[in-house]
Amino acid sequence: MQYYNSNTVIYLDGRFVKAQDAKTDLYGQSLHYGLAAFEGIRAYKTHNDTRIFKIKEHFERLKRSCELVNMPYPWDNNELIKQTYQLLKLNNLKDAYIRPIVYSAPNMTLIAPQEVSIMICAWEWGAYLGDKQLKVCISPFQRPNPKSTFVEAKISGHYVNSILATTDAKNKGFDEALLLDMHENVAEGSGANIFLEKNGKLYTPTLGNILAGITRATVIELCKVLDIEVIEKTISVEELKSADSAFFCGTAAEIIGIHTLDDTVFKQRWHDSIGATIQRAYKNLVLEKVNYEVII
Ligand code: PMP
Repeated sequence: MQYYNSNTVIYLDGRFVKAQDAKTDLYGQSLHYGLAAFEGIRAYKTHNDTRIFKIKEHFERLKRSCELVNMPYPWDNNELIKQTYQLLKLNNLKDAYIRPIVYSAPNMTLIAPQEVSIMICAWEWGAYLGDKQLKVCISPFQRPNPKSTFVEAKISGHYVNSILATTDAKNKGFDEALLLDMHENVAEGSGANIFLEKNGKLYTPTLGNILAGITRATVIELCKVLDIEVIEKTISVEELKSADSAFFCGTAAEIIGIHTLDDTVFKQRWHDSIGATIQRAYKNLVLEKVNYEVII
């Protein structure tokens, strides 16, 4: 996968520069200790030009992630939003995945940095987990303990856990991993939240031990409009395995059905599931095929 070429432009600390000419420092905490905050955002080509879905919410979460880990955030989000649209224009991107990242200036101490940089790049990226229902395994790796870090912050270092879980799942022949929390209850995928369907209702783990996904919040909003009950609760592995169907949701993955969990096959055909309805509604929403105000 080629993320950039000789024409690609990135946004770096207030300027647009060629990706191939941009430089970063090798003496920063971000590289050495994983202290950087980032986002994953998607832009969609709609009938109204390109729209970046929930861009405000993503930049708000970026700011919140920085605040939680004591990184300065000296930027105005409205300005960053404007520059992100400009970035897409300069790269002639209509459908895109957008990655802002805040990282430290040279600093080898273990004290939160005083100086930071922001970089925003974008590239074309299809559905991260593909479009077929997934074979998922329960990972031997738990999600980080909320008493060890701020799990609600999207911090680079947390993604070592995601990489370990995904690599383990792939090595065992699965498509994706499901991670449990420190109490061995269902938490989330390596880069997506999870919902299960049981007797016509949706269930999803409560916030606290998981990333507060913007897609998760969107699914809950869509369910209000569609009159589908959603219950946020602690979910055991047994409950998940006895579900009628289940799906992952996330900006990169969008909405994607889960076919099997370890050797359990979900009973419901995906096409008949609530997840499939949500998948269609989500697509219509991001593509603005429905009136946004009516849906949300
Ligand atoms: N959980 C984790 C661990 C993630 O990395 C992501 C992707 N950001 C999500 C959930 C889904 O979050 P969102 O819907 O905001 O993309």
